[in-house]
Amino acid sequence: MVNSKIQAAEENLIHVYNRFPIALDHGKGMYLYDTEGKEYLDFAAGFAVCGLGYGNTEFQEALKEQIDKICHISNLYYHETCGEAAKELNRISGMDRVFFTNSGSEANEGALKAARRYAYTKKTGRYEFIAMDNSFHGRSFGAVSVTGHEAYREPFEPVLPGVKFARFNDLDSVKELVSEKTCAIILEPLQGEGGINLATQEFMEGIRRLCDEKGILMICDEVQCGMGRTGSMFAWQGFGVKPDILTMAKAIGNGIPVGAFAMTEEVAEYSLKPGDHGATYGGNPLACTAVKKAIEIFERDDIVGHVKRTAPYLEKRLEEIAEEFAFVTGRRGKGFMQGLVFSRPVSEINAKTLEEGLLVIQAQGNVIRFLPPLIAEEKHIDEMVCKLRNALKQIQ
Ligand code: PMP
Repeated sequence: MVNSKIQAAEENLIHVYNRFPIALDHGKGMYLYDTEGKEYLDFAAGFAVCGLGYGNTEFQEALKEQIDKICHISNLYYHETCGEAAKELNRISGMDRVFFTNSGSEANEGALKAARRYAYTKKTGRYEFIAMDNSFHGRSFGAVSVTGHEAYREPFEPVLPGVKFARFNDLDSVKELVSEKTCAIILEPLQGEGGINLATQEFMEGIRRLCDEKGILMICDEVQCGMGRTGSMFAWQGFGVKPDILTMAKAIGNGIPVGAFAMTEEVAEYSLKPGDHGATYGGNPLACTAVKKAIEIFERDDIVGHVKRTAPYLEKRLEEIAEEFAFVTGRRGKGFMQGLVFSRPVSEINAKTLEEGLLVIQAQGNVIRFLPPLIAEEKHIDEMVCKLRNALKQIQ
């Protein structure tokens, strides 16, 4: 029998840019279901977005209640929920002033502008950015200009001038690029798209010291690694190395499109003010309800503690896979942001894991990423390993 929903999905694929012909319909906890009812164990979380998993009724009820009241007001006016969400986000991220955006790219655009605005107010003449190779900061022009991985940037050259790329985790390579024109250094404490590369403690500390000595701003992009994923609320807190500007998105809204960039008081004083930056939808009441509620649930349910306690088990099980299969050369990552490294291209893996009912994501450098919702328990990790093993056996 011809299945009309599958047929419709296949036909509609020409109108959109999805890559896999499965039509996801709804979710519960750690699982997603397609229109035929097939179950998928989700170790991707919509690209590290759905920290609380799917169908969290408390989160959903808060959104429904807000929809019934009001979804949007102009950002000329104060809204209590937005004020509270900003205050809470500043508290958990250790920052002082926040601008809400609609995405991670837009958060990074804002951060770059904030750094330029700071230099402009202080009349330092600084405008250059130093970014890292293999980095990913988004697809908009400013964000793609500081994105180190060439696959994302090269087709759009010439991009924003004044950007230099250093080698990640190589402080000397950063020092070589610093001049009196350097405005900011931007980096991901744990690179996601670039293949799950964790900054070393020395590198983070070295960058902070360099920035302090030379009057450069440090921007941490925690769009992917922030909000509990590495086992601390934000990755910088795990390093004890605080940036001047922090960018966030993905898990802060648990599925509602919202991002943010936050500044320290010292930066904010000389940087962007309402009026010279903003976004029509950025931080509207619905988005801010999501942020506020997500933070409340994260803290009450100790999601960060859960990640910290459970991550060693995920690491151990992934290492078993690396031992078992010769073409898996190792594991790397932190918390619930893990990668398995393969000795050859892994493009066939996705088709096989999908057949097994498992969602994982590829990253650059022959890496398969594991970014489960932060509620994943040991039993889900066991189930994932079982499905992964079946998929790997087929392509071995
Ligand atoms: N920065 C990082 C570190 C990311 O991982 C991403 C998205 N993968 C972005 C920025 C861009 O975020 P968005 O897709 O929401 O624009």
